[in-house]
Amino acid sequence: MDIKELEKLKKEVKDCTKCELYKSRNNIVFGDGNPKSKIFVVGEAPGYYEDETGKPFVGRSGKLLDKIFAACGFKREEHIYIGNIIKCRPPDNRMPTRKERENCFPYLLRQIKIINPKIIVLLGSTALKQFTDSNARITKMRGQWIKWNNYFVMPTYHPSALLRNPLLKKDAWEDFKKIAYKYREIIDPNHFSENV
Ligand code: URA
Repeated sequence: MDIKELEKLKKEVKDCTKCELYKSRNNIVFGDGNPKSKIFVVGEAPGYYEDETGKPFVGRSGKLLDKIFAACGFKREEHIYIGNIIKCRPPDNRMPTRKERENCFPYLLRQIKIINPKIIVLLGSTALKQFTDSNARITKMRGQWIKWNNYFVMPTYHPSALLRNPLLKKDAWEDFKKIAYKYREIIDPNHFSENV
C-alpha cells in the first residue's frame, strides 16, 4: 500500500469536474478506515452527514455497519477500509445516474488497487451491479463469494436496507459471518470475535 499514491488519487478526486456533483457537494467523501487493511467495503454514495464530514458511513446506516462489523471482531480503524462508488453526494440523496457511476467508478478501482485488500464487501444493489452486471439482483447473489480479479467478493444488503426492513438482518448476519470465517482462513487464523 503506497500512501502517497492514495493521497495523489484523493487530490485528483477533489479536483474532479467530470460530472455536475462537484458543484453541489460540500466535501468529497473519499474513504475511511485503515488503508493497510485487507477488507475493502464498498458503499453507494455519500448522504447528508457524509457530505458534511467528508467521511463515508457516519449516519444511521454507518452506525449499524460499525455495529455489525464489531460483532465480527472488526474495527473500522484497524480491519476495514470503506469507500463509495460515488465520491460526491447526489442532491437529495437521489440514486446516482449511470453516467455519474461510469465517471466515478475508475477512482474506486484505482483505490482498490492501491489498498490491495483480499476481501471486498459490496453493500447493496448499486455496488453489486457496478462490479458484476446491471441485471444482477442482490437478493439472489448476496451471501455467495464471487471471485473477481483475484479478490474474494461478498455481496450483502446495504445497511440502509436493513434499517428499512429489519427482517433482512438475519440473512445479512449470515453473510457477515462468512466474511469473518474467510478472514480467519486467509488473513489471520487468530482473529478473535465473541460472536463468530
Ligand atoms: N450510504 C452509502 O452507500 N455510503 C455512505 O457513505 C453513506 C451511506
